[in-house]
Amino acid sequence: MRTPLVAGNWKMNTTISGAVALAGEVAAGVEHMAAVDVAVYPPFVALQSVARALHGTRTSVGAQNMHFEESGAFTGEVSPNMLDGVVASVILGHSERRHIFGEPDELVARKVRSAFDHGLTPVFCVGEQLAERESGRTEEVVGRQVGFVVDQISPAEAARMIIAYEPVWAIGTGVNATPDQAEDACAFIRDLIDGSFGQEAAGRARVLYGGSVNTGNWDDITRRENVDGALVGGASLDAPDFVRLVEITRDALPAD
Ligand code: PEP
Repeated sequence: MRTPLVAGNWKMNTTISGAVALAGEVAAGVEHMAAVDVAVYPPFVALQSVARALHGTRTSVGAQNMHFEESGAFTGEVSPNMLDGVVASVILGHSERRHIFGEPDELVARKVRSAFDHGLTPVFCVGEQLAERESGRTEEVVGRQVGFVVDQISPAEAARMIIAYEPVWAIGTGVNATPDQAEDACAFIRDLIDGSFGQEAAGRARVLYGGSVNTGNWDDITRRENVDGALVGGASLDAPDFVRLVEITRDALPAD
């Protein structure tokens, strides 16, 4: 019912020419896998070149972050207007933005609001830290993060939103959530959308898992009911691995 999405977050990696080459390899590798949506998130400086390279393919390009204002005295920031016509979606509230750069829930929620106001699809990231999971607070933390955004959006926007459940302890660590942990958290997020906006929105919103996804662990996770794809960091920098993740996602889809 929901088309899965495999999204590659390249973080602060690649040069402009390296990004174009990587994007080209990905696009060629996934072109025939129509059952899965594919998106890549290069660094800002490579967005235009990658967007040009991907034009006419079924791989889309998005930004890794943005400011919520359209313009102003915000040195080093990128506004939604600057992304207009270049990207279709934007990652917001990634754990590295929250925990390295100190972005609070209120700020992330304003960014999500701004993305919708500017015709961009937010890939809104949530997830608990290790101590929070170990003290049984995963749902409290994820519930709070989602709660800030739910207050800012309409049911139609909730249906279009992409939410990435990314436990902080699994990002870039090589330790992935178990399929049960991923499914439970993704189902919990869908229940939150259901509680705020009803079944229709909850049935359409895509909930991704992210955190040390690789070609060895993804098959078991993608088969879970409430996991609608992956947000991939490290493994997205290797074109054959990333293409393989898309293939695993496609092969796990139920037969019609
Ligand atoms: C990410 O950056 O969103 C991520 C999940 O990274 P990794 O796959 O490297 O854990």
